[in-house]
Amino acid sequence: TEAYLQALEAARSLNAYVLETPEIAREMAAASDKRRGEGSAGALDGIPFGVKDLFCTKGIRSTACSNILGNFVPPYESTVTDNLWNAGAVLLGKLNMDEFAMGSSNENSAFGNVVSPWRADGDETPRTPGGSSGGSAAAVAANLCAAALGTDTGGSIRQPASLTGTVGLKPTYGRCSRYGIVAYASSLDQAGPVARTVRDAAAILKVIASVDDKDTTSVDVAVDDYEAAVDAPLKGLKIGLPREYRVDGMPEVIDDLWQKGADWLKAAGAEVVEISLPHTKYALPAYYIVALAEASSNLARYDGVRYGVRVNADDIVDMYEKTRAAGFGDEVKRRILLGTYVLSAGYYDAYYLKAQKVRTLIKRDFDVAFADGVDAVLTPTTPGPAFPLGAKTDDPVEMYLSDVFTVPVNMAGLPAIAVPAGLSGEGLPLGLQLIGRPFREADLFAPARAIE
Ligand code: GLN
Repeated sequence: TEAYLQALEAARSLNAYVLETPEIAREMAAASDKRRGEGSAGALDGIPFGVKDLFCTKGIRSTACSNILGNFVPPYESTVTDNLWNAGAVLLGKLNMDEFAMGSSNENSAFGNVVSPWRADGDETPRTPGGSSGGSAAAVAANLCAAALGTDTGGSIRQPASLTGTVGLKPTYGRCSRYGIVAYASSLDQAGPVARTVRDAAAILKVIASVDDKDTTSVDVAVDDYEAAVDAPLKGLKIGLPREYRVDGMPEVIDDLWQKGADWLKAAGAEVVEISLPHTKYALPAYYIVALAEASSNLARYDGVRYGVRVNADDIVDMYEKTRAAGFGDEVKRRILLGTYVLSAGYYDAYYLKAQKVRTLIKRDFDVAFADGVDAVLTPTTPGPAFPLGAKTDDPVEMYLSDVFTVPVNMAGLPAIAVPAGLSGEGLPLGLQLIGRPFREADLFAPARAIE
């Protein structure tokens, strides 16, 4: 813990943390030492974590990196973080992110962007760590915590993990409780780890997974021994490569990496087959309708009355307007407007309802592949390596395209892991993604280990 606290001070220029909690960390570490002395240590005892600022931490400022929650100190703890502390983990601080988890580059934060610790060969241009869990990924990549928690609504754990050479896991929807996590799109949001190794991710999932009566969408299914699953043999495992992920304009380096990943899995004993997920191309547009619709509804609660910041005005409507105008950033406002539009009378059927139908088709594509005996689906995680900061900020649609390979997983509610698989020609990390059957996270760890 002391070594990490020193590292945080030395690396403030990355802007990975929005709040450091050294006193709390030392207290937790001392309690852990005591437990170890007594022989009662938990599964993650003494391991220093960073936590995305989307998780409510009791008595500790939790802002979702939005000005509207700039002064919010929750009176309760999220279930996932509670599970971590009960296993003995130590909190180093809260991590930067895109405001309300809306973004793919961590440039939408009220606390400013995060800088990736990675640079291209011979090029000092600062790069994005990805987003929205950009602080989590940068902190793990730069050794500013042993592991971190992130959340993933459309790729926000896997995309930043891929761009920073770390491991990111999005569990099955319902595997972890969403209680105490600031909501973005409730039918898509899941918490999960960003870690240095597949084995670390497995150990963390074991701890954070739980059914919770405070989240009725959490599911009561057995939590497997994920660490043992890391060393399972690959023989008998069938891996599918979906031909629809070979999108136009995919850089050759990504295509090559994908092929290499397939070869590694074959060499380790798995069977690799081509499969079809015919509705893939509709996933991204449908995601940006469903997610924004839910976001516009979830964010209605920030009215200056119940949470956070208030801008006073003469009457209540004026107060709402001024508070929301001052409290939300541009991307959040854009999404509230789009989300409100697709839900409005007259457009609901054309957009929202249509997107929900597409969502069902996407889920069915995966069901068919799994029914055919496929155990996991292998794809690239991102269409390219980390881009320079500022490269896509003027073009939201270009930014949304970074999520093309990750959003189908959330639409279908499936588990998926992003694993570092190699470097681009300019020396930047690239990842591959393995997607599994619902609640079969255990199937993903051994193939992920064969790639890492
Ligand atoms: N980049 C996607 C979005 O902006 C995903 C975000 C996330 O997973 N939280 O919606």
